[in-house]
Amino acid sequence: MTGYQDRPWLGLYQPGKPADITPACGDALAMWRSGAGSARAAHEPFLYYFASPVTGSRVDADSDALAVALAARGVGRGDRVALFLQNVPQFVIAMLAAWKLGAVVVPVNPMLKERELRYVLTDSGATVLVSLQDLWNSVGVRAAAGTAVKLAVTTSPLDYLSQPAVPPLLAGVERTATPGAADLGDMVRSHHGRRPAPAALGPDDVALLTYTSGTTGEPKGAMNTHGNVVFNACVLREWMSLTPRDVVLGGAPLFHITGLIAHAAVAMLVPMPIALGYRFEPATVIGLAERYRCTFTVMAITAFTALANDPSAADADLSSLTKAYSGGAPIAPSIVERFEREVGPYIHNIYGLTETTSPSHAVPFGRRAPVDPASGALSVGVPVFNTVVRILGDDGQELPPGEVGEIATRGPMVVPGYWNKPEATMRTLPGGELRTGDVGFMDDDGWFYLVDRKKDMIVASGYKVWPREVEDTLVRHPAVREAAVIGVPDDYRGETVWAYVSLRPGAAATPEELIEFCRAELAAYKYPRRVEILTDLPKTPTGKLLRRELRDRAAGG
Ligand code: AMP
Repeated sequence: MTGYQDRPWLGLYQPGKPADITPACGDALAMWRSGAGSARAAHEPFLYYFASPVTGSRVDADSDALAVALAARGVGRGDRVALFLQNVPQFVIAMLAAWKLGAVVVPVNPMLKERELRYVLTDSGATVLVSLQDLWNSVGVRAAAGTAVKLAVTTSPLDYLSQPAVPPLLAGVERTATPGAADLGDMVRSHHGRRPAPAALGPDDVALLTYTSGTTGEPKGAMNTHGNVVFNACVLREWMSLTPRDVVLGGAPLFHITGLIAHAAVAMLVPMPIALGYRFEPATVIGLAERYRCTFTVMAITAFTALANDPSAADADLSSLTKAYSGGAPIAPSIVERFEREVGPYIHNIYGLTETTSPSHAVPFGRRAPVDPASGALSVGVPVFNTVVRILGDDGQELPPGEVGEIATRGPMVVPGYWNKPEATMRTLPGGELRTGDVGFMDDDGWFYLVDRKKDMIVASGYKVWPREVEDTLVRHPAVREAAVIGVPDDYRGETVWAYVSLRPGAAATPEELIEFCRAELAAYKYPRRVEILTDLPKTPTGKLLRRELRDRAAGG
């Protein structure tokens, strides 16, 4: 066993901290009520939306009213409520409203196109879709048709702006009519001052269905329970020594597990405010960090790079951001050094998956991650409290320190399974232990390093792209016979998506046409930036695609 608690010397990394922690509250709503939603915190800002503060009591009252309005429309315990929103206060308010009814929140990436959103709505069986106005009109209304969605709620990103100046990022945004949908603001106003009947929640109740793809098959809804959410909120609070004097820089998207846990949940618990700026835009994020003297964030490494490269970074004072963490993709040690030299904060590595409800490993605050001399990999940290991590060989046997194998994680943040997917659950979570698909090792001091992936995942601008999904889209084009998609290193996006296709006999298509075809079907971060047409794709004698050969080809030009 290579768990934190079995290696007392790992305590060295967190002086004075116990090896295991027991969360004080069993569900996320109790966490809210004793934290940011408590009487003691009520008049403090819980959200800063650009220059506009929103207090804890306003978030509490508006989520109460929305919950009552939803209950009046028949929404109740266990129902799925999908959120198709950017980083706006309504995200947190709708999430709390759903939890107040014992409903399950299904966060959806607002970049998804119609087909992608329809899949999530259908698979989750969501009956409510809360959407930004423009997203409802452009994508949501068609995606929801024919699904179980019986109530659409729309909202404007201009709501909750209490300052007269409209932020540049929202310039040109206007409130629009959304046929077929109820307005969130109207629902809140018409039920103002009312509270829903308290829902009895426990740690095993599902709080979130977070969709994640895989090497094979369609996206799966990971069932993050209330216990998972509360535990990892506690992990972050303890690990980063967060107090009500801290301020979260909300640079990660709230729909992703990083934003859900390392922004929203931990801020509810501590309690501390979150600075939100609609979506990631470097100058906006730098402005928020400076204005509110933000101290803590978790963002993709490409986001940190974008901040460092933004012209406004030169004069910005980001010295308050001491608890800077980056996860989701490998980090080159040189990027950490450059950021520290040019911008100031040291970026701590943090590692986890949607299925571990955000972190399973992190570099303790105040420590610096070692670099593996052989691979040049920056350590992702040590396992967090109560977590047992094993390195498994191809035969499934546990390997000793220094040997490379698949990382398998067990702990209170690991999801019990995938929504309605018992086979995928058995395959990925045998006996409750998560097979991460990440390949790495632990050194003699207990630091973990990732050196490879078993899974064919691409990380483009911090977003995960699964080749299988892009390939499935390409082969839906009538001219395409076969398709193979790979990730290619890219200075700006980290990795970018390239595709190789072969055409059906007698069929014709240009690379540009195929790129356009994917662009119409897939979220912007997924479509291939380059398509090359080959007579045949390289395969083994048994017909298995040789991605390695395509990667070599891409590297050669
Ligand atoms: P997601 O489910 O979107 O959070 O993606 C999880 C995957 O992101 C992991 O399985 C890893 O492959 C990758 N990942 C997460 N954190 C790190 C990190 N600190 N370094 C390298 N890869 C990471």
